[in-house]
Formats: sequence, C-alpha cells, structure tokens
Amino acid sequence: MRCPFCSHQETQVVETREGDEGDVVRRRRRCLSCDKRFTTYERAEIALPAVVKKDGTRAEFEPAKLRASMLLALRKRPVSIEQIDAALARIEEKLLASGAREMPSTKLGELVMRELKRIDKVAYVRFASVYRSFEDVDEFRQLIRDI
Ligand SMILES: [Zn+2]
Repeated sequence: MRCPFCSHQETQVVETREGDEGDVVRRRRRCLSCDKRFTTYERAEIALPAVVKKDGTRAEFEPAKLRASMLLALRKRPVSIEQIDAALARIEEKLLASGAREMPSTKLGELVMRELKRIDKVAYVRFASVYRSFEDVDEFRQLIRDI
C-alpha cells in the first residue's frame, strides 16, 4: 500500500475495523517515511481459480457459462432454479476453499458432475456424456451402471 502523500511503499497499520456491511475492512495506516496518516478501505477479493483447458490455455472462470451448461443438461427436468443456483454456489465454494490459483477443466467438470448426480441423474448422464466424450460404449454403460 503506497502512501498517498509521498508514495513511500512501507506503511504501518495502526487500526483495523470492520466496515458497517461486514465485507469491507477499514484500516488506519501511518506512512513510515513522512509519518502522515490515511485510511484505506479494503474489500476481500474473491479470487476464483483460472480454468486450464486440455490444450493448456487458461480462461477465466465464468459462472454464467457454467450455469448455462448446467441449465442445458437440466432442460425439461423437474429441478428448480433454486436447486441449480444452490449447486452452483456449492461448486464456487469448493473452488474458493481449494485456494488454488488455477484448476484443470477436467476437475471443474468433475465438480459439476458430482452436483448433477445429487440433483438429477438424467442431467448427470447428459452432462457426463458430452463432457467425457466417451471413447466407447462400454464406458458409457459403466457410467449408467454406476448411478
Ligand atoms: Zn508518506
């Protein structure tokens, strides 16, 4: 955190307070160079890991995209939007809890499949069949047997 007066990089936190809304932290700082004081408002950054695709390229995690693919798998299935959003929230929680800065797309797919398996078996098979792009029929049969 740079001092706004002299741009010195070292500052000392003299006081820390939770903001009114709880998600903002207010910090009173003192510049170690010019001794002036200033206040910063810091918001916890929600850092979801980047998704590493099979070809090695990285993409930002896009909740909207994930939601769309889940909705597609759940088309015409008796599953409410609330259930889908709850599943998405659980996936995001797991991503955040992992603390990882990047994660393979295959792992993200596994997380989605686990959630779909819980809420709707048909959607699970739909998603898995597209996602895993089965190499042979036996593999698909095995999956059907598993559920
Ligand atoms: Zn300063």
